[in-house]
Amino acid sequence: MTSAIPRDDLASLLKWYVDNGLDETIGEVPVDRFAPPPAPASVPAPVTERRPAAATPSRAASSPLPVRAPVPLESPQLVEDAREVARRCGTIAELETAIRAFEGCALKRTAKNTVFADGVAGAPVMVVGEAPGGDEDRLGKPFVGVSGQLMDRMFDAIGMSRARDLYITNILFWRPPGNRTPTLAEQAICLAFTRRHIELARPKVLVLAGGTAAKAVLDTTEGIMRLRGKWTSLRLDDGSELPTLPTFHPAYLLRTPASKRQSWSDLLALDKKLKELGVK
Ligand code: URA
Repeated sequence: MTSAIPRDDLASLLKWYVDNGLDETIGEVPVDRFAPPPAPASVPAPVTERRPAAATPSRAASSPLPVRAPVPLESPQLVEDAREVARRCGTIAELETAIRAFEGCALKRTAKNTVFADGVAGAPVMVVGEAPGGDEDRLGKPFVGVSGQLMDRMFDAIGMSRARDLYITNILFWRPPGNRTPTLAEQAICLAFTRRHIELARPKVLVLAGGTAAKAVLDTTEGIMRLRGKWTSLRLDDGSELPTLPTFHPAYLLRTPASKRQSWSDLLALDKKLKELGVK
């Protein structure tokens, strides 16, 4: 491609980008991130009834965890749209189709793939992580990079595998550029789908991998250091309660191997719970 800008100027512009943290090429063509998102195309039928924003599934009322303040959203309607689309889905296959068609999350515009789930839908254990990384974005499956491989080895140690016993997803379906932490608005939009995903998958136990997923799903400000290893109960929309175990993210364990001891104790607690529930 030729350019009217002199080569030296282009080189200093590139350096300025890199100095400011823009060190990753995402596409050939510039994207106008200030352009309004296209109207949601995936609401299958006219909306007759809107669920109030507060009526999302949450932790059990008895939970003592500190609750997050409402997210100040530039476009609260996008969260409402996501909830409405998700609510209309009666099966996991419908939910996957709806998420793939959803245009209300800006992350989709920079991601290569929609990363929906892996493992066995309907498995006794559902694992929810944070967001796809580079490998997941490339391959379109969650937890397939190095941290996913560590997660596989950890579950293998208690005799569980994604081919048989696990259903794996993330709170976000699209990779944040440069693996940055997803904004609260991005989390809120995708979480509408993830909560429905949990309801439709009906696991016996939910495992939340890492602080971002734990805080988002449990709607709390409490950090993973306090949350991990403690069973809590997630109340779903139908009023049922789901035993939920927050634990460290495998990427954190790769950086901090000494914490594997605590994760091993979490895995043993999971194993015990599954035996109590008669699923192991
Ligand atoms: N980290 C996550 O939280 N999810 C993935 O799918 C991969 C890495």
